[in-house]
Amino acid sequence: SDPVTLPAGAVLFDEGAIGHCAYLILSGRIAIFRRGDGGETVLARRGAGEIFGEMAILDALPRSAGARAEADCVLVPVGAAQIRQRLAGADPILRLCLEGLIARFRETLPRLGPAAAEGPPAPPSPSARADFDATVASLAQERALRRALAGDEFALFLQPIVRLATGQLAGFEALIRWHDPERGLVSPASFIPAAEANGLILAVTAWVIGAIGRIVPRVLEAGLRAPASVEPSLFVSFNVTAQDLARSDICGLVDAMLRRTGIAPGALKLEITESALMQDPAGAAAALARCRAAGLGIAVDDFGTGYSSLSHLSTLPITTLKVDRAFVRAMLAEPRDRRIVQTILRLADEIGVVAVAEGIEGRAEAEALAAMGCALGQGYHFGRPMPEADALAAAAA
Ligand code: C2E
Ligand code: CA
Ligand code: CA
Ligand code: CA
Repeated sequence: SDPVTLPAGAVLFDEGAIGHCAYLILSGRIAIFRRGDGGETVLARRGAGEIFGEMAILDALPRSAGARAEADCVLVPVGAAQIRQRLAGADPILRLCLEGLIARFRETLPRLGPAAAEGPPAPPSPSARADFDATVASLAQERALRRALAGDEFALFLQPIVRLATGQLAGFEALIRWHDPERGLVSPASFIPAAEANGLILAVTAWVIGAIGRIVPRVLEAGLRAPASVEPSLFVSFNVTAQDLARSDICGLVDAMLRRTGIAPGALKLEITESALMQDPAGAAAALARCRAAGLGIAVDDFGTGYSSLSHLSTLPITTLKVDRAFVRAMLAEPRDRRIVQTILRLADEIGVVAVAEGIEGRAEAEALAAMGCALGQGYHFGRPMPEADALAAAAA
């Protein structure tokens, strides 16, 4: 879906054709036309900042009219699959409104006359223009992500997780890094949500699982060489999303990787955020149960921010709670945050799971958390996410 140019006079599609994509107009002008007994009628004109050809994609019926360039045009195609992926994630009320509008428009279309197309295309409203620009940006992001997946632009970094009472290395969290040759380092906090919106997240997670298979055996081996400073039960955790649990066979993927590499399932932990768990509790529970039965650990990430209920938590095969960074950051200054941390630690104890405090940036927090009985800690104080070579050195130290 790279931008295409269309010379003035060229017909892009005809009435009755099957629609494969809609188009965003970056520049130029498009006439929407029908052919009848009395010749051709232009029904509408569209200009820069507008979309056309979306109707046949939204209702999967043939094109209701043709489209021709009236000036040289630069267009960004939006594929049917890209649009349906977004629609599937949309609110059902919105989908219903859209379907109603399109059905009604199809009804009135035959009665539209040439008068409808008089004058130049009206410029889009500011909010439509903002949506247009956001759409162009998100399609460019999707193209870049596809290229990253096909090429060699991702790396998996590892951040140490430490036993607070002893300072021993207990494990690592794997965090993806994207080095875009054009934009430099792109934060996962921006491209992971984008990948969830465009459906590429499943491919990203598959890449992560592949990288885990390459990296973890070396990490575990390095850990064995430093028995004093590294726990024998060294683990690596990695992040998955609600879509991974709902739409891909995550357990099957991991299982195949474990067989291929000989990694013990207990050396891996799956991290899923509390809010992701709340999106589709039943679906997540089933997928997590399979992973847990296969021997993987299950960590609830960003705990304390996702409004999960205790009754719901108790139905999930959790082994670890990760206390969200926001509480850890604020706990020394704010008694309220300190109490929240204390409550989460007590809860972890009650349900018999390990607690990991995230985002520990200073010695004072590390000591306070150790005194409160928090088992594990992670944060810049112990080490930043680092490339594999540095993690191997840290594990063997
Ligand atoms: P997260 O899973 O909560 O990961 C922890 C984030 O906190 C990481 O940001 C890490 O670099 C950062 N962090 C660690 N210690 C500290 C600290 O002491 N202070 C501060 N300020 N930050 C700290 P990162 O790597 O930029 O990742 C951001 C988010 O992107 C992650 O949050 C996770 O939600 C997502 N993500 C990262 N890698 C992956 C991945 O491979 N798959 C998926 N699905 N999501 C990922
Ligand atoms: Ca995480
Ligand atoms: Ca987290
Ligand atoms: Ca987070």
